Amino acid sequence: MILTVTMNPSVDISYSVQDFKLDDVNRMEKARKTAGGKGLNVARVIKQLGEDVLATGVLGGTIGDYITQELMKSEIKNDFFRINQESRNCIAILHDGKQTEILESGPTLSEEEGEAFLEKYRGQLSEASIVTISGSLPKGLESGFYRQMVEMGQEKGIPVIVDTSGESLKQVLFYKVKPFAIKPNINELFQLFDMKWNMNVSNLKQLLTIELFHGIEWIVVSLGGDGAFVKHGNNFYRVTIPSIDVVNPVGSGDATVAGLAVALDKQQTVKDVLKTAMTTGMLNTMETETGFINLEKFDSLFDLVKVTKVD
Ligand code: ADP
Repeated sequence: MILTVTMNPSVDISYSVQDFKLDDVNRMEKARKTAGGKGLNVARVIKQLGEDVLATGVLGGTIGDYITQELMKSEIKNDFFRINQESRNCIAILHDGKQTEILESGPTLSEEEGEAFLEKYRGQLSEASIVTISGSLPKGLESGFYRQMVEMGQEKGIPVIVDTSGESLKQVLFYKVKPFAIKPNINELFQLFDMKWNMNVSNLKQLLTIELFHGIEWIVVSLGGDGAFVKHGNNFYRVTIPSIDVVNPVGSGDATVAGLAVALDKQQTVKDVLKTAMTTGMLNTMETETGFINLEKFDSLFDLVKVTKVD
């Protein structure tokens, strides 16, 4: 079973309005509400790939109830740690060809709640074959929180894939126990070093060779429409993808993590792991809905992904 962790999920509300008026009343004819959060996208794609998945994390209030109901509708098994505060809403207003976002920061967890979640997670690990941790941490939990989750996985011999950014990613990397895999996009990778890099293969190879990354089995640096650059053990790979009709790229990194988790769980070959991860990422970009893939197109795209070893 694949365990997907979302510590700060949301209900994502999207309003479409022709002519958005500031300091006035805007009536929304159409509102779309979905259970959001990177880890929930990962869970949805794993479910569509036909694999056994359990979604966990932290939820609260009626917004939390809504998220649980949405997961039930999609028949995704879920077992979240419940808190008394409300989970958050994230609002996107699509207007005049632009997108204005209003993002709540969400609940603040106490140290005790953090500990109680970890106890739940410890129990869930005994049924998991691989874990994905995605997105930001809720307020109140220290930025090294994911370190403990990676370490608990390692103690039980369960690979943990981490897809986060900024300080939480830094904390995970600057720790003696390394995650099994990370999937930063190129900007998240460069942000870590607070400096400008020219993105070319030789720079990336040099960067991923530094000690900070030692001990991470898989580093998948996703490059949007340019595919990915990957370090696996001591080997490097450039993964290229075909050009496709992109409808909505939001969540494609999450779909990539889902493909990665499923392929690693099935112990596919290095080449197939990378082809699967790229294919699920691409499939997500071809749909309006975030965290949704059309499996009928899987095989044809999979065949067009090229993996080349970099010397
Ligand atoms: P994130 O969503 O984390 O920023 P990326 O934008 O790098 O991640 O996308 C993850 C993967 O999704 C890419 O490696 C690729 O497989 C696919 N993808 C993303 N954008 C495009 C695009 N414009 N065209 C084709 N595939 C894409």
